[in-house]
Amino acid sequence: MKNIYLFNEGYGLEKMILGGKGANLVEMKKIGLPIPNGLIATTVACKNYFKNENCLSENMIKDIKEGIKKLEIETGKEFEGENPLLVSVRSGAPVSMPGMMDTILNLGLNDNTVQKLIEKTKNEKFVYEIYLRFIEMFAEIVKGVSREKFVKIKEYSKEKTYKEIIETFKGLYWIETGEFFPENPEEQILMAIESIFKSWNNERAKIYRQLNNIDESMGTAVVVQEMVFGNFNELSGTGVAFTRNPSTGENELFGEYLLEAQGEDIVAGIRTPHSIETMKNQLPNIYEEFLSIAKSLEKHYGDMQDIEFTIEDGKLFILQTRNGKRSPNASIKIAVDMVNENIITKEKAILMVDTELLPQVFNGTFEEADIVGKKFLGKGLPGSAGVAVGKVVLSTDKIKEGESVILVRVETSPEDIKGMSLAKGIVTVKGGATSHGAVVARGMGKCCVTGCEEIKIDSSEEFFTINGERVQEGEIISINGYNGDIYKGAIKLKMGELSEELKEFLEWCKEIKTLEVRMNADTPTDVIVGKGFGAEGIGLCRTEHMFFEDEKIWSVREMIIANTKEDRDKALEKLLELQKIDFKKMLHKLGGLPMNVRLLDPPFHEFLPKTEKDIQKLAVLLEKCPKEIESRIKELKEENPMLGHRGCRLAITFPEIYEMQARAIIESAIECKGEGGSCEIEIMIPFIGGISEFKYIKEGILKEIEKVFEEKNEKIDYKLGTMMELPRACLIANEIAEESAFFSFGTNDLTQTTYGISRDDSIKFIDHYKAKNIMKRDPFQSIDTRGVGKLIVLAKELGQSVKPNIKIGVCGEHGGDPKSIEYFNELGFNYVSCSPFRVPIAIVASAQSAI
Ligand code: ADP
Ligand code: MG
Ligand code: MG
Repeated sequence: MKNIYLFNEGYGLEKMILGGKGANLVEMKKIGLPIPNGLIATTVACKNYFKNENCLSENMIKDIKEGIKKLEIETGKEFEGENPLLVSVRSGAPVSMPGMMDTILNLGLNDNTVQKLIEKTKNEKFVYEIYLRFIEMFAEIVKGVSREKFVKIKEYSKEKTYKEIIETFKGLYWIETGEFFPENPEEQILMAIESIFKSWNNERAKIYRQLNNIDESMGTAVVVQEMVFGNFNELSGTGVAFTRNPSTGENELFGEYLLEAQGEDIVAGIRTPHSIETMKNQLPNIYEEFLSIAKSLEKHYGDMQDIEFTIEDGKLFILQTRNGKRSPNASIKIAVDMVNENIITKEKAILMVDTELLPQVFNGTFEEADIVGKKFLGKGLPGSAGVAVGKVVLSTDKIKEGESVILVRVETSPEDIKGMSLAKGIVTVKGGATSHGAVVARGMGKCCVTGCEEIKIDSSEEFFTINGERVQEGEIISINGYNGDIYKGAIKLKMGELSEELKEFLEWCKEIKTLEVRMNADTPTDVIVGKGFGAEGIGLCRTEHMFFEDEKIWSVREMIIANTKEDRDKALEKLLELQKIDFKKMLHKLGGLPMNVRLLDPPFHEFLPKTEKDIQKLAVLLEKCPKEIESRIKELKEENPMLGHRGCRLAITFPEIYEMQARAIIESAIECKGEGGSCEIEIMIPFIGGISEFKYIKEGILKEIEKVFEEKNEKIDYKLGTMMELPRACLIANEIAEESAFFSFGTNDLTQTTYGISRDDSIKFIDHYKAKNIMKRDPFQSIDTRGVGKLIVLAKELGQSVKPNIKIGVCGEHGGDPKSIEYFNELGFNYVSCSPFRVPIAIVASAQSAI
């Protein structure tokens, strides 16, 4: 593997070697697009540099010099020649890291080449301007000199000649670095390449990689490319455009450009650019040419492209293309449209959608009616789709974790990344829809309003004014990333609706996936939502959650508090009726899809009354004195409720509870059938750890069900099975399988008990594990395949050794996590079950893992 490749030598090499930017330039060159020539220092060269103790080896220096020689021949220009070669030095990691690393433009200039260039272009102003910019960029990026200082010099030098300003610039360089400004282009380029290698390890790049789970060891490539000048004359300019609208997904060119401007002017958000639409009138031929290149790039890559271009003296050059970042909504529309336009296959479309960002598709907009009467503060540009409500915060370091805040900044710099990731939404005063803030926000799937120039942030950084209105830090505002609107106060948010494209997309996913996707539904409302999203049944109905609603909780409390069988039977009677109402509604709504009901698993601490008032109320209900209730509560209090008297352990002490529940389920099903419905019933016993325990409970339940059959003189089919949520259950899964019709892995508790980490307490320390790189991911979010997974695999194998066709599913939170779904799919599970709102995400993830 060579250190250096010319664009026309690198075809076929991977992104991992050439970096994303470099690989795409090589490819565009190959298909004949107008690309300035260049060369690439590979990620291998970068790693060699790190290996060589952050020093360019003799060998590497030789390779770079040879590369430059070839580039000189290709371009017909020479470093310091009559026709001087000027280049940009650009970083390009294998994974796009927008704004994370730096680019140096106009390298190759010195006092000598400046004169030659002036002779050649007859444009002194232009040449000196790019020289100044070069010194400034070089000093900043290679030597870390603050750009501010150069800007100040320029401000105070209005009366001075260019030559004098350049002298002052170089003077500053000398003062700040203790070195003379390097005049020799070869020396310049070696220093520039080296500094880009180094920038891989700067603080903001590290944070970005951490936030995005990007591999630290990858290294960056460096692109050295012949300069073209967007600031050459009035027929020159520079711009950025997406082949489709990245906020809405609409099939239309979307972008911005500036005439007589160079490179970063747009992305940095320094000057406010024009919409690409205006180019149609200003430079119609170029517009047409660009449009056709945009279309062909989209076809070539089979994805929406984000393209950077420059026009020099009426000639168009493409400087970069990459798959464009887009809002979650847009990603669906683009995927579906591109299939319907015959650009990509359905499989590719499915893989194109990032499941991590999907949740927003479903919780996207303001409640229309709630906007009425809210104070409209002003309007910026739509930076990133979505809506957000939160307290105003004016600097990143004031954000506290867990607080809902809107970060308001003049412009965001990469240093703000951490703050942006914590904020609910972002507002910037400067910059367009392609500025750093907007790009990063879209990547994070965060609502963002950019370019709101009406905002004036006070120098105290304690408030801002907008159209005469003063907004103090800490006040609540609501922002709309679809149209840029900003309001005072909190506007209600509305759940997203299923667009036509989304419905079509989900249909494709359903055709392709093999895993069944069920919902965790505790109420009839849950069933309506989940089924609407395409759930194929209930994988988990937590009967205790049915009682979280309004007054029902009192009956559960009554049952728990009861200390005689009579009292408990009285409470159970009430519960039976309440449960039946809900079960029947749910069965009817399911229309024959399976319903898996988990018998009661109430950790006492979640149910017992906590306040004085509630204790009073319960005392009145039960016609007992509050003292008695209090002492019963004390009796029931557990040191460790998560490992206490819960789940099936309750049914060992009070068998009548599960028997009542089984009765409620079976009676509901028989009645539902009688009313013309059909049903598929699964009854699930939680927290089983031993086989005798299971047998004892099973016997009681079977007896009760037989009784119901006799009473009703009618039988129905049902399955009785267990939740697998304790390590011991997994270890003796063959014994359990003898008695159980199915295994449903409760991965929340299984993770909790395997790790010995209480889920409720883990928030207090898991972040430290992550920050110190001791844990990559929170095991409660994504299944721990190495540890917990081993128990799952073992249980599955033991179970199948006894019952080859035993049905196997998951009903923990992991059932809605794309990474975990992929794992369960590989293991050959029958189904996953997750909360109703995650059902579509699980459907997409299942389809992706089936491709
Ligand atoms: P980033 O990774 O931050 O997008 P780039 O390497 O793309 O950085 O450089 C930023 C900008 O500099 C580009 O958008 C382009 O406008 C300008 N630029 C880079 N190389 C050249 C070049 N060879 N000629 C003209 N402009 C260039
Ligand atoms: Mg940059
Ligand atoms: Mg770029």
